[in-house]
Amino acid sequence: DNTQPKKPNWIRVRAPGGQGYANTRRIMRDNNLVTVCEEAGCPNVGECWSAGHATMMIMGEICTRGCTFCNIATGRPDALDPFEPGRVADAVQKLGLNHVVITSVDRDDLADGGAEHFAQTIRAIRHRSPATTIEILTPDFLNCPDSALETVVAAKPDVFNHNLETVPGLYPSVRPGARYFHSLRLLQRVKELDPSMFTKSGIMVGLGEDGQGVRQVMDDMRAADIDFLTIGQYLQPTPKHHRIDRFVTPEEFAAFEKAARGKGFLMVSATPLTRSSYHAGADFARLRAA
Ligand code: SF4
Ligand code: SF4
Repeated sequence: DNTQPKKPNWIRVRAPGGQGYANTRRIMRDNNLVTVCEEAGCPNVGECWSAGHATMMIMGEICTRGCTFCNIATGRPDALDPFEPGRVADAVQKLGLNHVVITSVDRDDLADGGAEHFAQTIRAIRHRSPATTIEILTPDFLNCPDSALETVVAAKPDVFNHNLETVPGLYPSVRPGARYFHSLRLLQRVKELDPSMFTKSGIMVGLGEDGQGVRQVMDDMRAADIDFLTIGQYLQPTPKHHRIDRFVTPEEFAAFEKAARGKGFLMVSATPLTRSSYHAGADFARLRAA
């Protein structure tokens, strides 16, 4: 059955437009960059791009995984572009970003999962824009040697984000090819390698999990020393993607946020339109100022 529950009135999206939006779009085009904002059809693109905030996606537009919630194409990716780190750094500088989020497709075809390319991108941004804080949203580096993660951590991003996406029981239908405890352990290792680095993770709700499952994920994350948490409503990109089980109410989101703060997360965003990178810069700046 693929009938979807009706979209509630709290899922409201502002249509993209305006000068800030056009400027961000132009710089991305000029630098031949891919944004997850567009690829994922993110509902916040109007707001974020108007504010000069965007999430760039490196290592191509084709992913070796096929998560059932995700709108990125699956297949055999292109060769890595050695000039991409420089183009990303150029765009970050031109946009004058205080905080940038860099993510990527999964590259199971590469021995290091793309770790060295990630590290080069971080270093290129740091070199051109030393004051910009850098957040990375990485693949899980499954089946890579330990040195892959060490390479990325050694490049010293400010925030290391890897999303668990959903509760463990839904992995086979939502994140086939990924392992819940591997992803959790990845984030724990980041903290062990560099205790000064902030770690972050997130899940979507409305995929079929229940509230108890969400709270258990929070406990697992805290046991792995994860600092920041995002929880947002899953929206189905096309009818072929994982079906929406339900729309979680704003009240339930508020309860998740309260529970998460009680469990000791330093930063929590849990609203219907929360995305992994939504308001990431403003939230991080507030945390650093506090
Ligand atoms: Fe892009 Fe993230 Fe904003 Fe969505 S929330 S538009 S992905 S920066
Ligand atoms: Fe999408 Fe990431 Fe899954 Fe690839 S690994 S299908 S980019 S969510």
